[in-house]
Amino acid sequence: MWFIIKFVKMDPFFLQKTYIQSLDTSKLRNAVNLNVLRLDLLHPQISGNKWFKLKLFLEEAKKQSCFKIATFGGYYSNHILATAAACNYYHLSCTLFVRGNEPKEYSATLRQCKDLGATLVFLNKNDYLKLKINEGLKADVYFIPEGGNGTLGIMGAATIYANYKLENYDFLIGACGTGTTITGILRDAKPHQTVIGINVLKGYENLQQEIVIKANNSKARFNLLNDFHFGGYAKYTKVLLDFMNDFYTQHQIPTDFVYTGKLFYAVQYLVNENFFALGSKVLVIHSGGIQGNAGLPKSSVVF
Ligand SMILES: *Cc1c(COP(=O)(O)O)cnc(C)c1O
Repeated sequence: MWFIIKFVKMDPFFLQKTYIQSLDTSKLRNAVNLNVLRLDLLHPQISGNKWFKLKLFLEEAKKQSCFKIATFGGYYSNHILATAAACNYYHLSCTLFVRGNEPKEYSATLRQCKDLGATLVFLNKNDYLKLKINEGLKADVYFIPEGGNGTLGIMGAATIYANYKLENYDFLIGACGTGTTITGILRDAKPHQTVIGINVLKGYENLQQEIVIKANNSKARFNLLNDFHFGGYAKYTKVLLDFMNDFYTQHQIPTDFVYTGKLFYAVQYLVNENFFALGSKVLVIHSGGIQGNAGLPKSSVVF
């Protein structure tokens, strides 16, 4: 029965590894108080925001006495790896529906999922889309939506706000894929705050409207910035990789090329452009995802 007891206590010990770090901004042209919420330190596989998006889904599965979890994602998805690792941690069975044919050589992400005991099922685009509309409990399997999206994902992400006392900052900035995480933050944000999302997708500008609606008329301002995608989802340039390496050398904070590299690049741009008023307290949410860098050519990043 010990594993059931462990499952009941949803916030695991590894949350204690996260903290808020102040950046040395003496080299910056403009004086802002720049801080980073290090969710990347949470766990190497259940990284950053993914734990917060998953936890209420797992709790709901438990409430329904369901110990079989299933979810969806691509070859490099941080979400499927986080789900596989969380299921391994809580002794739940895990089935991952992966978009695309079974590759001859598994990505580092897929390999880790397999090593964590997940069952991988590869689906072509049509079958994947058909299956994806499943959510919640079907038969004896609890389906978590792709990317941990949905109401429980938003509510779980919202717990970040109280957990780390985010009311103490003027600006809260995070990377947006589905927008679930930033929606949760925006929901709880106070009138004196501005929440900024860095969109890592190209040509998906409706996300601004979607986030505002799902955040239930938040009292805070919200801006989605659409010019930092570097060509689109999981696309990158030398400029981005150089920035990530420089940023690491300067602050010893690793970033990933899909989300947080673009996020910190945008933050640096905003600081240089005097976007923040003098003395503003800025919090950047480092949502993790470092494992995804295994998809880059060797030696692209120095960390
Ligand atoms: C998934 C992910 C995001 C995007 O989160 P959404 O809730 O989908 O917007 C941001 N950063 C990292 C590192 C991620 O893995």
